[in-house]
Amino acid sequence: MTGRSGPNHGVDGPDPPLSAPKPSTTLTVVNPARINQTRRIVTELPGPRSKELDARRTEAVAPGVSSVFPLYIDRAEGAILVDVDGNSLIDLGSGIAVVSVGHAAPAVVHAVQDQIAKFAHTCFMVSPYEQYVAVCEALNERTPGDHAKRSALFNSGAEAVENAVKIVRHVTGRDGVIAFDHAYHGRTNLTMALTAKNMPYRHRFGPFAPEVYRVAMSYPYRDPEGMTGAEAAARAIEQMERQVGVANAGCVVIEPIQGEGGFIVPAPGFLPAIAAWCTANGVLLIADEIQTGFCRTGDWFACDHEGVVPDLITTAKAMAGGMPLAAVTGRAELMDQVHVGGLGGTYGGNPVACAAALASIQTMVDHDLAFAATKIGATINERFSAMQARHPGIGDVRGRGAMMAMELVQPGTMEPDADAAKRIVAACHRAGVVTLSCGSYGNVLRLLPPLVIEPELLDDGLGVLADALTAEL
Ligand SMILES: *Cc1c(COP(=O)(O)O)cnc(C)c1O
Repeated sequence: MTGRSGPNHGVDGPDPPLSAPKPSTTLTVVNPARINQTRRIVTELPGPRSKELDARRTEAVAPGVSSVFPLYIDRAEGAILVDVDGNSLIDLGSGIAVVSVGHAAPAVVHAVQDQIAKFAHTCFMVSPYEQYVAVCEALNERTPGDHAKRSALFNSGAEAVENAVKIVRHVTGRDGVIAFDHAYHGRTNLTMALTAKNMPYRHRFGPFAPEVYRVAMSYPYRDPEGMTGAEAAARAIEQMERQVGVANAGCVVIEPIQGEGGFIVPAPGFLPAIAAWCTANGVLLIADEIQTGFCRTGDWFACDHEGVVPDLITTAKAMAGGMPLAAVTGRAELMDQVHVGGLGGTYGGNPVACAAALASIQTMVDHDLAFAATKIGATINERFSAMQARHPGIGDVRGRGAMMAMELVQPGTMEPDADAAKRIVAACHRAGVVTLSCGSYGNVLRLLPPLVIEPELLDDGLGVLADALTAEL
């Protein structure tokens, strides 16, 4: 009833991706089996096969790389993950905001199969190809601002952020990079330095890249009551001017809505005020939209919501429907200053990842996934607010579009309750619903469902979450 050609999750369009190559006639396109978009638990969780794999994992995989819950996945489609024991789980995390177009989105599957059969790699820096150019065109067209832009492609979000900072320093000749409290920008040395949270990201992994400064974020739930966006911006700007000084500040790096830090939505006016200060002082603004970008928040980019136009923007996660791809997009007059050969990498802009990105972006356009995100967000917000009315342990409900969270606290206080978040995530998993936690204090429960999730499936997932809250709070 929920086949890939039905109206189930809205990504069945056979339309070819943006200027991507036509499917080769000699290629047999193998579709994965259809997966019913319903939750179905057939073993205890984790099941016997997952347990077996987890025992092997313990012997083979570095424990520093962890998983939220040990359910090993065999297949996936739409918003359903099927584990190796045959359990169908509802995915409310999208692999951390990556498969926004849904698992096995038909256009992405076709584009990848077609591209891998043609060629998997040449290295764009050796022998270029159209797909890379087309992804850059799409990024330049869709990212905020209608100025001339250029893009460069990389493998991971962290690598994109690193390159954005490289470009800023090259262009401005100023070393200082200003990041915010609760920020998350990745796990490489420079991006660890930009990331605010010690455990687990930074602990004993230093020394970190120098000339990174941290200022206060607008965090409406925890800021003094009634603090406006303009006031929060003034607080950050005072810190920037005092700690760094305009003459030393190359850029400000900010997630327009913080992701790992706890889905912190700054007060209205905060981002525009920071952007205006940057413009007035020749400090470049890098918007890290790696988690918020590509329709997640109900706009193509979270900056669009307040009309903020950054000088550079970093993207990754949802861009390529599950394939690893990241980008820096910036003002042409900045990007054009970097010397020829100064940017790149062996795999950056891999043709298979580019083909996936073109198909993924086209899917977002064809099915208006920005609008879908808004609808999903409204549903979650309504349910979360009802849950908050019942549970005093839910201190705050926030987010935008299909990026929604609740912050858990000790009832009657603002004391973070990370243990509750852990228990609820585990209870959801045991019932077959994949949810995630986040937050500087580890006490935020967040949802990032695929934007093609069917309403009934979302409803079922939220029901499981409501039961977990009742049982665990
Ligand atoms: C995930 C994320 C990154 C890092 O991306 P990776 O691909 O994991 O390196 C950087 N910034 C933000 C805002 C993110 O959410």
